[in-house]
Parts: sequence; structure tokens; C-alpha cells
Amino acid sequence: MNEYAVRSNNVTKIYGKHKVLDHVCMNIKKGDIYGFIGKNGAGKTTMIRVLAGLAIPDEGQVELFGYNEEKELTKERRRIGTLIESPAIYLNMTARENLELIKIQRGIPGTKCIDEALNLVGLEDDNKKKTKNFSLGMKQRLGIAMALLSNPELLLLDEPTNGLDPIGIKEIREILIKLNRERGTTILISSHILSELTQISNRYGFINNGKLIKEMTAVEFSNKCKTYLHLKVRNASDVSIILENEIGIKDYEIFPDDIIKIYDEFDSEKITLTLAKHNIGIKEILPMGEALEDYFTKLVGGKDNE
Ligand code: ATP
Repeated sequence: MNEYAVRSNNVTKIYGKHKVLDHVCMNIKKGDIYGFIGKNGAGKTTMIRVLAGLAIPDEGQVELFGYNEEKELTKERRRIGTLIESPAIYLNMTARENLELIKIQRGIPGTKCIDEALNLVGLEDDNKKKTKNFSLGMKQRLGIAMALLSNPELLLLDEPTNGLDPIGIKEIREILIKLNRERGTTILISSHILSELTQISNRYGFINNGKLIKEMTAVEFSNKCKTYLHLKVRNASDVSIILENEIGIKDYEIFPDDIIKIYDEFDSEKITLTLAKHNIGIKEILPMGEALEDYFTKLVGGKDNE
């Protein structure tokens, strides 16, 4: 069975003289919540439009659920729900009326889907309110409900939390986690703000100037940025045994040149005193680590890379 919901092979998109997507090879596994991160103008929306079939690549191919022929892609795209930029909402209608309209337009059968979508996004109690009186967060939640009507297996969400306050962001996050856990929906969510994605994504794709610079799992990402204590001694394995036995340090790694990296919450003073008690000298002791934001800035181009 194919384990990928999305793969792209060297997708390139050129507008005029501008290469907006440059040989993008993206891999999203079924069940992933894929955080698609890049600065404004990096190419996130264009890539999502390509995946959704709204823009045609100048080079390269898209593969959805294992299919890459044009005819097959058209069929597979029925398994996708999209929210690209702001949702198209009729402001003089209620949320339910908006959903009913979409249901008719798309020929979606059954009646339960509207209640299910409204419940999922927490708009079931706002039945009488016209959407012109909705907050931005409510409008975004309605946008997600619209994308959910046909019970898609893959959701493509372009900056759904853009402009929302922390409560609105949290609400969207909880909806997406629920969808992913309960229905197994694969989700691509884009943002230019890392912190909006770190609490939900299990995989990331970093895009800069149209190039997908790196894909990594959330575990790989946080390991890259883990803070740790760098300890250089004369005999790392002896020291590690002492630290384990006497102060219970368990999460550590030994590197060449007798360097120990301690990831447990560390108390440098306690470590120094313990080793002094055993007459063990410390050559280097330094708290290290990179903040996620710093690593992200380095990857997607901070001021130095512009
Ligand atoms: P943002 O977070 O600002 O939406 P983004 O990462 O989604 O940014 P895109 O919207 O994909 O980036 O745009 C990438 C680049 O492509 C930008 O420089 C943009 O101006 C350009 N671009 C996008 N669509 C078109 C178009 N239809 N015609 C010409 N240029 C375009």
C-alpha cells in the first residue's frame, strides 16, 4: 500500500522571469500533520495551488495517493479539501446556509455532513448568526468546515491561522488535531510563523525562495534544537557512570574526544561538585543548544540570507 498522500517530483513554477517554485520534492505521509513553513513570498501558496490543481507546474509532477497521471489526479483531488487564503463566504448568510450552498454546488450527498462539519469546528451554536457578524477566527473555522464537507482524506490549509489571536490559533489547532486523530485526516498546514505549527506538526517542510530546503520529522527538529550541557573530560565513560549513579543523569550521549552531551535537566554546579569529589577535572563545561526559532531562521533565511 502506498504510504504517501502527497509526493512531488521537481515541481517548478515560473511567473514571468520569477521562479516561484524551484524543483520542489515534497513528501507527505498518510496521517501526517505537515507544517509547511516559509517566509512571506517563499512559495507556499503556489505549491498548495499546484497540489490542489489550481496552478499547473512548468516542470515536474505531483503524485497524490500514489497516482500521477493527469486523469488520475483529477479523480484523486476529490479526496482533498482545501482552504487557500481567505474562505469565500457569503456574508449575508449563516454558517449553515453557506455550507448548504457548497453541498449543492459540489453535489455532496447526505444531510449529516453539515451538522458534522459544524460540530467539528464548534459553530453548531451559531446557527442564527449571519457570517458578517463572525469574528475572523469563526470565519476561518467556517472555511475549514467548508473544506471538510466531503470528508476529505487530505486537507490543504494555507495559513489558516493568519491574523488570529492566540485563542483563535488554539481553537484551530485543536480542531486539526481532533480531525487527524479521529478521522486520520492527513493535513498540510502552511504558516510563516513557526510557533503556530510546532505544537501540531509531526513533520515539517521548510521552503525559501521557492526551494524546499529541508524536510524533517518533529522529533528530528526538536533534537536539532535541544538544549544540552556539553562536558569535556578525560574519560567520558567513567564520568558518565558516576553521573548516572550519583545524580541520576540518564539522558546523555558520549561523543568522540571524551565529550558528553547531557540532555536531562542539568544542574552544572551539582555536576562540577560531584566530579570534584572524585578528583575528576573538567576540561569544558558549556550549556549549548539552539532555539527552534534560531534554527528556523537559519534554514529559511534570516537577514544574512536575503
Ligand atoms: P505569503 O505567506 O505571503 O502568502 P507564500 O509563501 O504563500 O507567501 P506565494 O503566494 O506562493 O508565497 O508567492 C511566491 C511568489 O510568487 C511571490 O513573489 C509572489 O509575488 C509570486 N506570485 C504568486 N502568484 C503569482 C502570480 N499569479 N503571478 C505572478 N507572481 C505570482
